[in-house]
Amino acid sequence: MNINGRYKKENTFDAIVIGSGMTGGWAAKELCDRGLKTLVLERGRSIEHQKDYPTALLHPWEVKNAGVISQDEQNKNPIVNRCYAYDSNTEHFFLKDEEHPYIQEKPFDWIRAYGEGGKSLLWARSGQRWSRFDFERPARDGWGFEWPITYDELAPWYSHVEHFVGWSGNKDGLEELPDGDFLKPFDMNCVETDIKKRIEAEFPNRKMINGRCAHLTEVRDIHRQQNRGLCMARNLCYRGCPYGAYFSSNSSTLPWAQRTGKLTKVTHAVVHSVIYDDNKETATGVRVVDAQSGSMTEYYGRTIFLNAACLNTNLIMLNSKPNRFPDGLGNDNGLLGRYISFHNYRGRISAEMDGYLEDYYYGRRPGGPLIAPFRNVFQRDDIDFEGTYLANLGASRQGWNRGVYDSAIGTELKKKVSKPGPWTIYMGIQGETVPIYENHVRLSSEEVDRWGVPKLVTSVDYTENDEAMLKDFHEQGQAMLEAAGCINIHLHDSHQAPGLDIHEIGGARMGSDPEKSILNKWNQVHGCKNVFVTDGACMSSVASQNPSLTFMAITARAANYAADEMEKGNL
Ligand SMILES: Cc1cc2nc3c(=O)[nH]c(=O)nc-3n(C[C@H](O)[C@H](O)[C@H](O)COP(=O)(O)OP(=O)(O)OC[C@H]3O[C@@H](n4cnc5c(N)ncnc54)[C@H](O)[C@@H]3O)c2cc1C
Repeated sequence: MNINGRYKKENTFDAIVIGSGMTGGWAAKELCDRGLKTLVLERGRSIEHQKDYPTALLHPWEVKNAGVISQDEQNKNPIVNRCYAYDSNTEHFFLKDEEHPYIQEKPFDWIRAYGEGGKSLLWARSGQRWSRFDFERPARDGWGFEWPITYDELAPWYSHVEHFVGWSGNKDGLEELPDGDFLKPFDMNCVETDIKKRIEAEFPNRKMINGRCAHLTEVRDIHRQQNRGLCMARNLCYRGCPYGAYFSSNSSTLPWAQRTGKLTKVTHAVVHSVIYDDNKETATGVRVVDAQSGSMTEYYGRTIFLNAACLNTNLIMLNSKPNRFPDGLGNDNGLLGRYISFHNYRGRISAEMDGYLEDYYYGRRPGGPLIAPFRNVFQRDDIDFEGTYLANLGASRQGWNRGVYDSAIGTELKKKVSKPGPWTIYMGIQGETVPIYENHVRLSSEEVDRWGVPKLVTSVDYTENDEAMLKDFHEQGQAMLEAAGCINIHLHDSHQAPGLDIHEIGGARMGSDPEKSILNKWNQVHGCKNVFVTDGACMSSVASQNPSLTFMAITARAANYAADEMEKGNL
């Protein structure tokens, strides 16, 4: 290994950000805005907004295999192949299974995107603020760990992120899902509007609301400054949006940071570990393996932000073993890698709605409405599970594409495309799973990957609590759809493995007590204050909301705190 020490000065920055995805983009933006010379290290290739979206403007008939991945490729990549967004329009953004294998002690579908922007190019853009109940519930109900921050502390950072990103939604006035700094919402269609009326009449404490998502339904000055345009409701977002109408690091935070003149990006840079100076008792930089040549380089910085996405951040920390931390960076209590949590996505309900055959909708709205969490929210309810869930739902006629991707051809296809079918209803659970000690990741003691890093072992599973919640969702979902007048209601359990929800969190949880947590309330490693962890790894519990908005708000808050502390000379 060639440790490149000669270029120490050129390789020294105020701040180093590991990962250029959703949270790394935010860390870079905030740190650069604060005038700090910032290095972003990204293990994948460069992906430039617009230029590197090769399928964005393809017509359906130009798409390879009509979107279907060849059987051979499916066989080679069974894990990523289970992700609904993986097809021939998007495969270039996903990590293939064989490129970075890991060891599943229990089934866990680890879905990754290694490249500039990370999963921010591929996400479904839904997101809701947590409420104060979500921060309080784990300790209040006695199954979890006390959050060191409150909703009120995070609320200004939610606003900060929503304003910049552009978040569409309706001001619903719900305490359990606080309103944000919203652009106008995507409307519900006529069937959804009626379902809402009927469910809310039958169940007064259950609220069905418009989806909230990171799409520009209006373009404000702050978005014009980012060269982003209006959402055209094409729902081809996963290919990368040429208008920059949905938020990604590539269209938004990274180019913004670049324009400050403070940003340096290095791609194909696999961070191996954090360098800790036992004499100075501080982290001084990172070791990086060049993904192409395999050579090793060091970069130095006063502050380091870990944003490699939850499990890779755990991996880097576990693999950073100076004398001071022989079991991994900050791992004084043996809890690093523990309390991994995720969203229970197993429950689905399909149904149909008679009538409304003269009605249709305009455009292909991304996302859809949801039923706000109603179990164990305001207090611990008298039910047999902990935590809460929300339910995504939507009504459409023969799917968003009017069956255009159906297997029919010729006249049969034309007929299908020109006539929308009946209204079908979909409902799906997004359930909070309780973080438990046993659900963990660790390093393999035997196998290393091609970059010389031990492989990650995943040992994460459902619990009986998840089964009880799933049962409740099926019962309550059925009751709500019946009240709404739906017919042909079918309950499904996908039995999917944890991980396929792509909302994994934990391993380096925040807390006030260093005996029980890895990070403090500012996301600093308790035992190494110039290392910040602000991706999903930092989360002490998962709540029921889509997580990325909260990850981004936490990142912006921590980055500004780091900048303040650096100005004061404390870091
Ligand atoms: C299909 C899909 C749908 C989703 N839908 C939603 C949704 O609707 N709402 C929601 O809130 N979330 C959604 N998500 C999840 C969301 O994308 C993630 O929560 C979010 O991207 C996490 O941000 P991150 O910065 O932690 O990780 P990422 O965005 O994945 O970025 C991590 C980056 O770090 C890089 N990296 C990893 N290891 C290293 C290393 N050792 N050295 C250098 N770089 C490294 C990676 O290459 C990557 O670029 C979805 C994800 C997918 C794939």
